[in-house]
Amino acid sequence: MTEDSCDVFVIGGGPAGSTVAALLAERGFHVVLAEKDRHPRFHIGESLLPLNMPLLDRLGVRDQVETIAMHKYAAEFNSPQHERIVTFDFGLAWDRSYPLAYQVKRSEFDQILFDHCVAKGAQAMQECKVTAVELKGRDGAQVKTRAADGAEQSWDARFLVDASGRDTFLAGQLGIKKKNSKHNSAALYSHFEGAQRLPGRAEGNISIFWFEHGWFWFIPLKDGVTSVGAVCWPYYLKTRRTDPSTFLLDTIALCPALAARMEGSKILQAAMATGNYSYESRHMVGDGYILLGDAYAFVDPVFSSGVLLAMTSAFLGADLIEAQLRTPARAPALIRNYNRTMRHGVKNFSWFIYRMTSPAMRALFMNPQNHFRMQDAVLSLLAGDLFRGTPIYRSLRVFKTLYYVFSLFMLKQCVTAWLRRRRAIRDEGEISMTGSRA
Ligand SMILES: Cc1cc2nc3c(=O)[nH]c(=O)nc-3n(C[C@H](O)[C@H](O)[C@H](O)COP(=O)(O)OP(=O)(O)OC[C@H]3O[C@@H](n4cnc5c(N)ncnc54)[C@H](O)[C@@H]3O)c2cc1C
Repeated sequence: MTEDSCDVFVIGGGPAGSTVAALLAERGFHVVLAEKDRHPRFHIGESLLPLNMPLLDRLGVRDQVETIAMHKYAAEFNSPQHERIVTFDFGLAWDRSYPLAYQVKRSEFDQILFDHCVAKGAQAMQECKVTAVELKGRDGAQVKTRAADGAEQSWDARFLVDASGRDTFLAGQLGIKKKNSKHNSAALYSHFEGAQRLPGRAEGNISIFWFEHGWFWFIPLKDGVTSVGAVCWPYYLKTRRTDPSTFLLDTIALCPALAARMEGSKILQAAMATGNYSYESRHMVGDGYILLGDAYAFVDPVFSSGVLLAMTSAFLGADLIEAQLRTPARAPALIRNYNRTMRHGVKNFSWFIYRMTSPAMRALFMNPQNHFRMQDAVLSLLAGDLFRGTPIYRSLRVFKTLYYVFSLFMLKQCVTAWLRRRRAIRDEGEISMTGSRA
């Protein structure tokens, strides 16, 4: 085994890892990043939020991302219980500075971010898996890697970044990962060609379709490809008796409004599934290490918040790491800010995520009202505008109060939905998606 050293070692070359590696390499640190896969590789998480835009600008990759992206100006909501379709236009949010977002193939997006960190001077290795970490308190960490050819290497790092995504490398090792006791769902998804998009400027908008067992996303990507996925209660995925792709197509057929948009389309790759994904780590910063993005927490994809949270954590994390290594007296305040900001982001999205399948929430989304600027505030949340001090919280509180009032008026349906949700949260079983269950 060869031995080497660096200032900062980053586990994972997804959006969080590549972003923090670029920012720190640019500031003169010797950054080493290990990515177990090779880019371009498939990854789920294709719909970005408007507040990703300033981050792409600050990183200096917006022009490159523009070449691979569809423009998303709005999110469209479809409910079988309501006659009309409702569109939430980002251009009408509280602060209208960011009226659009991107839809991207993650294979291309992640490649851009990865190449960017290399261009900034990070030593980034692909098909190189981190196999072991020994934390050494304020002295950083000893990291072991294994390359595709089996070569093993040991790295002495002054600071360790875990950006390993849902693999949650460090949280797993430290035993600090806890299952979300308030949420549990699973997703089944694939890429399609020939799905019917919305007309004109709305072509790149995301569509959300509620159905009996959860909800669907319809994300138009460049080159005519559309990402379609069902986020369901785990019990539903366990009813599968066919191969995953047939099951996805059968599930789409349960939602007539989506089925109409998918008529004549062709599935491009075998459907994939992800389950048991709602978790949080007990802490996100320790002596000599930090957890970024999904390596810290993930709740649910409904508001497309994952990449925004991952990149936000990378920007804040870079400042914190720089302070820790160069001006330690500044670090405690930045650590407090990191903890506060990331918890604030997860908490605000979570309140809506937990209630998304409630009949009261659906009624509110399908009948938007702008009294007390409630709709502006909800739009800002949907745009990811949670970290700039935009004053949306009083209006969000009014929206939340209205949600509870609606719940009382729809008590029977809401209690039924709540009981169903509680059963789903208690559902511990693994979801297998390999082969046929026939
Ligand atoms: C079904 C579903 C749909 C989603 N839809 C959206 C969406 O529309 N929009 C959105 O913003 N988010 C979405 N997300 C969330 C999004 O996928 C993540 O939040 C985002 O990718 C997090 O970025 P990250 O950099 O933290 O982790 P990742 O993107 O997962 O990157 C982690 C990287 O670490 C590497 N790695 C892991 N372990 C090791 C190791 N031991 N050694 C070396 N490398 C390692 C992995 O190969 C990976 O490349 C969705 C998630 C799910 C489950």
